Parts: sequence; structure tokens; C-alpha cells
Amino acid sequence: MSPATILNGKMLSEKRLDLLHDEIEKSGITPCLVTVIVGEDRASQMYVRMKHTACERVGIESEGLEYSAAITEADLLNTIQRLNQDPDIHGILVQLPLPEHINTGHILRAVAPEKDVDGFHPVNLGLLLENEPGFRPCTPLGIMTLLAEYGIDPAKKRAVVIGRSTDVGKPIAALLLNADATVTICHSKTENINAYTKEADIIVSAAGRPHMVRADMISPGCVVIDVGINHVDGKLCGDVDFDEVSKIASAITPVPGGVGPMTIVTLMENTFKAALNISCKHV
Ligand code: NAD
Repeated sequence: MSPATILNGKMLSEKRLDLLHDEIEKSGITPCLVTVIVGEDRASQMYVRMKHTACERVGIESEGLEYSAAITEADLLNTIQRLNQDPDIHGILVQLPLPEHINTGHILRAVAPEKDVDGFHPVNLGLLLENEPGFRPCTPLGIMTLLAEYGIDPAKKRAVVIGRSTDVGKPIAALLLNADATVTICHSKTENINAYTKEADIIVSAAGRPHMVRADMISPGCVVIDVGINHVDGKLCGDVDFDEVSKIASAITPVPGGVGPMTIVTLMENTFKAALNISCKHV
């Protein structure tokens, strides 16, 4: 069997960042993204830094608001309200996780849906379920862009999503369903996951469990999308046993260099979309 096609998210994201840079320049609009980070989580700080670097590259103005973990929910809600009301701010991103004393749902629901570039507001999630225009969560939409780039059409395919989180599992399942795949969602309480994955044409793993998806779980020709970000012995790895699975799959995303970069470019694209929509409303 020929080795799997590597779905190169890094390369595609570079290409799309360049295109977006040109589009933003041509538009004459300067989109503005504000990120909000609470506490000292090192991984969150790194993700936010990467987002600001991407903003700079494409010509999006960005501001990072950082608060101590001691901030109250009320103060954080006030901040969000202020950002909602500022016409110069087009996108608001609240980096998760938030400290336990803050209700994440309250904060995400406070972000104006038209500035919700992460696509986590219930209005946008509802629009996703209705298959109507709205902001889609960045990681799932980035995966769909990657599949399209490589000519992988989910229509009529059997797709298995591992993980049911609101930021990845459920929205990627909805996007695949909207694209006419037949979708099964597996999760931590699913028994005998192999029985589902063995039947799959497309597997999206978003469990956050290193090496969980092994070669004996997939059938030849399957497309394998690895969303997982795990650290094992100081090394970054996904959920998929890449070396073994890539011998059987027809296409596979690497970690790093697969889904991660697609998430960031999608955030940039969503922010430009927010700027266009909001700017048009103000004209
Ligand atoms: P989460 O912890 O919110 O959800 C994990 C899901 O996996 C849960 O629904 C759980 O039921 C399921 N699960 C856990 N163990 C399982 C098992 N053994 N078998 C079957 N299902 C199992 O995590 P999340 O936010 O959805 O993120 C998932 C992974 O994706 C993490 O590693 C995260 O770091 C990564 N992630 C990557 C990106 C990216 O851009 N590449 C973006 C978001 C999340």
C-alpha cells in the first residue's frame, strides 16, 4: 500500500495567511482582534502569542488583555461589554480555560455574536446546527478547509469523531454532517470504539489521549485527522500513532504541522470576516 498523503496544514496555512494579507491590504480596512487571557496558564499564553504573531503577519491589529486569576466574573463581564461596545474592535477572543470561579458559559455568552470570532457563542453554534451563515469554531472549520484543499469530500462518507467537546468534537461533527457525511460521535463512555472506527472513511480524533488511535483501529484507505495536542516525554504528539497509522491511512495530518496551524489561520479569516461585516453595517 502506498504511504498516506500528508495533509500539510502548515503549508496550507502559510498560503492562506499570504492570501489574507493581500485581501486585507486591498480592503483598506484594518481589522482589530482583542484577546482576553485570565491567569498564568503557560499553554494559553503560548497560544495567544501565536495568535498575535499571525495577526501581525496578515495586517490585523491586535491587543492582548491579561488579567490575574483573581479577577471576578462581574469585572470580566464588564470588560467584555466594553469591548462589545467599541466600534473599533471587530473580534473578541477569550482564551480558555478560565479559572474555576468564573462561569465560562456566562463569559462566552456575553461576547457579541458578531464579534465572536471563536464561534463559541450559542447563537453561532445554533447557526452551525441550522447550516446558516455564522462564525464557525476555528479548529473544526480549519479541518474542513484542509479536507477541501486535498479534494476530500465528506459527502456520503462515514465519519467518526472521537470527542464531544463544544469547541471541537460537536462542531466538527456538525460541519461534517452539513457536508453530507454520516457522522458518529464517540466519547469517553463509548464502548468498543474500534467497532466504529473500523467502519470509518474519515476519523477525527479530538480526545487528547496520546497514541490512542492505533493501526488496528482503522481500515485501509481511511482519512485520519489528528486534533490532539499532547506532551509525552517533553515531545509534542497527537492522539494518533502516526508511524503505524500512516502506513494504512490514505491521508493523515501530522502533529505538529496539521490541524494546529489551520486553527490559527481560520481565526485570522474569521476576524477579517467580522471586520467586513461590522464595517459594512457602519457604512
Ligand atoms: P476536551 O477535554 O474538552 O474533550 C475531550 C473529549 O474526548 C471528551 O469529549 C471526552 O469524552 C473524549 N475522550 C477522552 N478520552 C477518551 C477516550 N479514551 N476515548 C474516547 N473519547 C475520549 O478536549 P478538547 O478541547 O476537545 O480538545 C481535545 C484535544 O484536542 C486536546 O488534546 C486539545 O489540546 C486538542 N486541541 C487542539 C486544537 C488544535 O488547534 N490543534 C484545538 C483545540 C483542541
